[in-house]
Amino acid sequence: MLGAPGAGKGTQARLLSEMLGLPQISSGDIFRENLKNGTPLGLLAQQYMDRGALVPDDVTINMVMERLTRPDCGRGAILDGFPRTLAQADSLDRALLDQGSRIGRVPLLEVSDEAVVERLAGRRVCRNCQAMYHVVFSPPAVEGCCDKCGGELYQRSDDEPDTVRNRLFVYYKQTAPLVGYYFAHGVLVRIDGDRPVEEVQADLQVAVRAEA
Ligand SMILES: [Zn+2]
Repeated sequence: MLGAPGAGKGTQARLLSEMLGLPQISSGDIFRENLKNGTPLGLLAQQYMDRGALVPDDVTINMVMERLTRPDCGRGAILDGFPRTLAQADSLDRALLDQGSRIGRVPLLEVSDEAVVERLAGRRVCRNCQAMYHVVFSPPAVEGCCDKCGGELYQRSDDEPDTVRNRLFVYYKQTAPLVGYYFAHGVLVRIDGDRPVEEVQADLQVAVRAEA
């Protein structure tokens, strides 16, 4: 799944995962799992992080490849939020090729910059149970208060408008070149993400089913 922050990749990947019965794999989740379980790759990553250095791509790729070789990925998997750079995309392709596998489809969720800022800047999270709300699209019954547990809702610093604009800038610089990369590989499918979740999901299912 490709798309700017706030384009809805996580939500759409989760729905697609339920529909197709394929695991949704997020590099963030894999990372946290390896760190928590103290795996050799997790310990290696920790050494870099302890020095305040970036974790090298090959460590991240190895974590993703290890995840993809587990039995639940036998029929495939949905990658969400990875790869993020051309170098990662290239390494991932080579690692998959070594295993006789490949990327089948890359759905690009296209959302306008204004919509991204509106979506993310309106997001609120419960301090207590981490439930997500949106001041316009899915407001809580009582303003500032979680429907599920009554906890206080707050705006993550990541979702403040200036930070969102900066996240978009990083996306354009680092990740947007993947659009051209996957187009050239004949696997890109553009999907209009500025629509209700169900409509986007319907198009997404058609797009991935066309792959075989
Ligand atoms: Zn809550």
